[in-house]
Amino acid sequence: MSKTNTMCPHQPCCPPADSAGRDAAHVVHSHPEQGWSLLCNGVVLFEDNGEILPNGRVISSRRPHAVVF
Ligand SMILES: [Zn+2]
Repeated sequence: MSKTNTMCPHQPCCPPADSAGRDAAHVVHSHPEQGWSLLCNGVVLFEDNGEILPNGRVISSRRPHAVVF
């Protein structure tokens, strides 16, 4: 039995926020003018590929950037 994603109305359910495929979930609210989208698993996905998980964990952008020290 898989973990139920209560925010996800899709069948089969989208990847939960704690799975590696979480950004494959459907977008439920898109705010391109603000540069972010809310996925149905509760993840906030930013334009630069950064993410905020429902538990508050921040995933920084995976797009290659110059490293700033
Ligand atoms: Zn979904």
